[in-house]
Amino acid sequence: MAQRLRVHVQGIVQGVGFRPFIYQLAHRNRLKGYVANTPKGVEIEVEGGQEALHHFLQELPKTAPPLATITQIDSEELPAAHYSTFEIRSSEEGQERAALISPDTATCSDCLRELFDQHDRRYLYPFINCTNCGPRYTIINDIPYDRPKTSMAAFTMCNECSREYYDPMDRRFHAQPNACWACGPHVWLADGEGKDLGIKEPISEAASLLSQGAILAVKGLGGFHLAVDATQREAVKRLRLRKGREEKPLALMSSSLEQIETYAFLGEDERQLLISAKRPIVIVPKRPSDIIAPEVAPRNRSFGVMLPYTPLHHLLLSHPFVALVMTSGNMSEEPIAIDNQEAVKRLGTIADYFLFHDRDIILRSDDSLLRIAGGRPRQIRRSRGYVPVPIFLRKSVPTVLALGGELKSTICLTTENRAFVGQHIGDLENLETLEFLEQSVDHLQRILELRPRLLVHDLHPDYLTTQLAEAQEEFPTLAVQHHHAHVVSCMAEHGLQSTVLGLTLDGTGYGEDGTVWGGEILLADEKSYERVAHFEYVPMPGGAKAIKEPWRMAVAYLWATFGEEIFQDDLLSLRNWDCNQIEVLLQMMQRKVNSPLTSSCGRLFDGVAAIIGLRDRIAYEGQAAIELEQCLKPTTERYQYEFREVGRKLLLSPTTIFRQVYEDTVSGVEPPVISGKFHQTMVEMFAEASLHLCKHYGINRIVCSGGVFQNVFLLENLEVRLGDLGLEVYTPELIPANDACISLGQAVIGAMRLEDQ
Ligand code: ZN
Ligand code: ZN
Ligand code: FE
Repeated sequence: MAQRLRVHVQGIVQGVGFRPFIYQLAHRNRLKGYVANTPKGVEIEVEGGQEALHHFLQELPKTAPPLATITQIDSEELPAAHYSTFEIRSSEEGQERAALISPDTATCSDCLRELFDQHDRRYLYPFINCTNCGPRYTIINDIPYDRPKTSMAAFTMCNECSREYYDPMDRRFHAQPNACWACGPHVWLADGEGKDLGIKEPISEAASLLSQGAILAVKGLGGFHLAVDATQREAVKRLRLRKGREEKPLALMSSSLEQIETYAFLGEDERQLLISAKRPIVIVPKRPSDIIAPEVAPRNRSFGVMLPYTPLHHLLLSHPFVALVMTSGNMSEEPIAIDNQEAVKRLGTIADYFLFHDRDIILRSDDSLLRIAGGRPRQIRRSRGYVPVPIFLRKSVPTVLALGGELKSTICLTTENRAFVGQHIGDLENLETLEFLEQSVDHLQRILELRPRLLVHDLHPDYLTTQLAEAQEEFPTLAVQHHHAHVVSCMAEHGLQSTVLGLTLDGTGYGEDGTVWGGEILLADEKSYERVAHFEYVPMPGGAKAIKEPWRMAVAYLWATFGEEIFQDDLLSLRNWDCNQIEVLLQMMQRKVNSPLTSSCGRLFDGVAAIIGLRDRIAYEGQAAIELEQCLKPTTERYQYEFREVGRKLLLSPTTIFRQVYEDTVSGVEPPVISGKFHQTMVEMFAEASLHLCKHYGINRIVCSGGVFQNVFLLENLEVRLGDLGLEVYTPELIPANDACISLGQAVIGAMRLEDQ
């Protein structure tokens, strides 16, 4: 007796070889019917014997294509329809719209085998790909995801490629970027002015130039990289100088895990992350060795490493390099270059040569950056390979667009139970980055075909995104407090609804009272919050300058702790700070001139790093705090801490801690020991304050967010400590703890408020 089932599959099931997979699965089970794309995913009807149908349903989720992510399978029984075949029904125009688009994916093992097979027609072809791998998000102009709507529209498939493309049994069935030597994009080598050098084997020549110490701009998947041989000190130094990047670590790419292990330690979790199809940069501890130039990651215990993820990378890395520096192709602070001509203009002063190709990058996407902490992968920069996979929300919400914060900015667009957080945009401190944000907004709205009902931005009146929101009249707007957005982003990724205690520790966020918040404990839900605890305020002499110059914060904490007298005695011989400048800072703070008040936790880390002599000025965001963590010597000792209740609020004292740090410094305690005690103090103080507040408000869920939680010691120890106290602890995993999460929090808050109206 034939039975018929109608099956709906939701998730990332389009443009990933899902229909041919179903076709083959149905054939294997001798089932008739059809498979078709629908706005929500894939619809299947299968008809046949009961056992075959059962087997089909069982195999479906287990053997789905590697790029597919199934979020839901529903099936219903129907009376037999007596199909005579099983067919793939073509999708009607406009039908695939609401479906999910796959992120860009690393070259699969089948393609890799063909790439290095002399007898394959794509032998050494730098754009080999198939339904299971290759570019997606970065080449899409519009939906439905079909070749004419991608940057592959410029290339007409040859007969061979065409045959593969239309054969449901072929690995390249409907692989939109399908191409070969005869019909697809190609690579060429150009000099520093962008002039084609007419080299016959451009990739081999590029490798040879790299081994001679040249700087190459290499066009990749989501943008240009700047590459040098990572073992050559002079080359790395030259790259840093020309790029204007003083000390921030540079990412490395090596051909294999074995190669990486010659200069770094890899745990099992790190290995898995490195070889995943997403191929992010992973932060791993350095191995004591002098293979890699010290200039790659100066004064840092870690490297950021990745494996090749495009055929072009595989070809380049098939030459004998231990590692290549592969850093974003930009001047510091600007978005990564993606267009050939634009690259010559912007990178011409940095790169000696360009390795170009002619497959356009529609939307830039930087390499993603993760690390393992507390036994789980944690996002630091979520971009290529992860975007546009949505965060699934606990329920359907109205469509809202959130513009994010200022640093490490992202945008977020919601629809139904999905929040699409866009790729890393960068620090919104210049117009180029703002332009990129606007492009991303357009692109995301277009490919998702969504029109928001509300535009959400940060409370800060001066942010470029706030100005952007206020300058338009198309959408109503909502301003959301920075730390509330932090808390709700973490709630959203963990599907939390009820009120939580939100421990938000970061550098800077505009507060309701106009001061700079950053060491905050909020009692929060998805709609509102109450600030129940924070660090007591200290001035930031010089405002933004105090962020770049941690010694200023040390002076501020000393002043707040001891008053003026401290600057009379031996402090000046302790640290080599300029008396005149100190005098200026003191006057600024006394007269309250250009000295905004802050409750920041990040600034406290900065101040401690400066007073113990680690760093007076930083070359990149968070550097002082990172170096403070890296020098840490674990200890069970800690400093005294204090908090007091003022009205409904708990005030945490930074000066009590700073006093002891100073005293230890004066009596010659080593910085690693002070750092250890300081970190231990932070853990104990926040654990005790949290427990106190949880008891007081009768809740037991605590959510952590904020850039300070990129400190692995703090994250891991607080997580354990709070857990030991019987609290349910949630920490950021899918979305960074830093300000890249702000857009998600804003969007959810906006959507929930909209629902109330
Ligand atoms: Zn492939
Ligand atoms: Zn071809
Ligand atoms: Fe923040």
